[in-house]
Amino acid sequence: MAKTPVVDTDLCIGCGSCVEVCPEVFELRDDKAWVIGPDKCDTCNCEEAANICPVEAIKFE
Ligand code: SF4
Repeated sequence: MAKTPVVDTDLCIGCGSCVEVCPEVFELRDDKAWVIGPDKCDTCNCEEAANICPVEAIKFE
């Protein structure tokens, strides 16, 4: 079963990198990333976004 990405908004600095790599999954709202499509990644289980995040705010549950 696919992992569900969640953003720790306390850590997120709103850099937008995750939105750039996965616009289907993440969206910036009020300078924080929100998960808008938790099941929209069918290539890497959002590993790429998690890896590119500079503050490791993207976790999985
Ligand atoms: S890459 Fe990380 S810090 Fe940047 S917007 Fe996404 S969750 Fe926030």
